[in-house]
Amino acid sequence: MALVSGEILAAFREHFSNASIPTIYRAPGRVNLIGEHTDYNLGFVLPIALEMSCYVAIAPASHGQLRIFSRDLDEEFDLATDVVPTASPMHKWHDYVIGVAREIYKLGAPIRSADIWIASEVPTGAGLSSSAALEVSSGLAFLNSAADSVTPERLELARLAQRAESQFVGMPCGIMDQYASVFGQEHSALKIDCRSLTHEDVPLPEGVEIIAVNSLVKHELGTSAYRERVAECAEAVAAIQQADSSVRSLRDVPVQLFQEIQDSIPLLPRRRARHVITDSQRVLDFAAAARAQDVGEMGRVFVASHRSMQYDYEISCEEIDFLVDTAIKLPGVYGSRMTGGGFGGCTVNLVAPGASKEFRERLSNAYHERYSIRPVFYDCVPAQGAGKLK
Ligand code: ADP
Ligand code: MG
Repeated sequence: MALVSGEILAAFREHFSNASIPTIYRAPGRVNLIGEHTDYNLGFVLPIALEMSCYVAIAPASHGQLRIFSRDLDEEFDLATDVVPTASPMHKWHDYVIGVAREIYKLGAPIRSADIWIASEVPTGAGLSSSAALEVSSGLAFLNSAADSVTPERLELARLAQRAESQFVGMPCGIMDQYASVFGQEHSALKIDCRSLTHEDVPLPEGVEIIAVNSLVKHELGTSAYRERVAECAEAVAAIQQADSSVRSLRDVPVQLFQEIQDSIPLLPRRRARHVITDSQRVLDFAAAARAQDVGEMGRVFVASHRSMQYDYEISCEEIDFLVDTAIKLPGVYGSRMTGGGFGGCTVNLVAPGASKEFRERLSNAYHERYSIRPVFYDCVPAQGAGKLK
């Protein structure tokens, strides 16, 4: 259930003794349908923005601080506004918010004292991008309080949120999550070209439901393995440059060229590159199948993508493979794959509308029997991107 402004106003007032009426912003989480780890290689991705969102209420204050309260963690973090430009990351949740404030400051906006109340429906660490939802909603809030001095384009909002995460929080992420949170569309997935930073809407066929399944596990390798993959892709690019010096990123290598030159790339970076190059191509194949309403083909492309993450990119894990392998044997399931950065989090599934009840029951029971955990299911309906709450 989406949070409504009345509840947020009441909670804001209860927490802060601030008589001003706050302005409320919403930014959605996202589920990526296909194209995993392709964004920082400047390839294609295909996310949808979700109804589940982060909400930020902001009102001006006179205490000289940013007071930032997270309802979900029941924790407040305060920082004097004049310290924000030189603050260092503290490896805590508020780094995402302070990182965004710093990026907006760098665009030339003053940092003004404010009370900031945050609540999110996006589960954290599940691969549905609670971090981008937090960054983008905070970004809109800070831009509101600096509206007289800077008014960046929406694309710049996505970019500054991504810079906050990669440069201040320290996660070397691509642009997908923030872009999807800003530009989400009802009824459509976004086929994002991560090089040109443009997108096309890809309407999804009626005869398929998109269901995310949260494994509720997150293996700790997450951030370090992410860095390793970024480095391995750079190694692959360096090896390919020996043969073709015009290649700047894996985006420049079509599948056909890769097949011709792959023997010249050392084995590990070769496998990483094979995943990235073929998954970026699978985004195009999936989008074409979606436009042709070919749900069978969409499902096959999904499973091929999962195997590529499992064996070539090595970012899956036992629990996720179990969810995928169990799901694809159930009636009415067209395809299943891990979504998000990896090592746990969610799978995303393409399910025939009449089959979703049985899908949930049987998958839940099988997972519980194996791991004594009940997975959580989310219906994923493409939702509008970030904005001010009415
Ligand atoms: P994901 O983006 O897949 O959910 P990340 O590890 O990238 O996972 O981001 C999750 C982190 O974002 C949390 O650990 C927390 O630091 C921060 N975060 C997200 N939502 C909130 C919130 N509502 N309140 C405080 N921190 C949040
Ligand atoms: Mg994240």
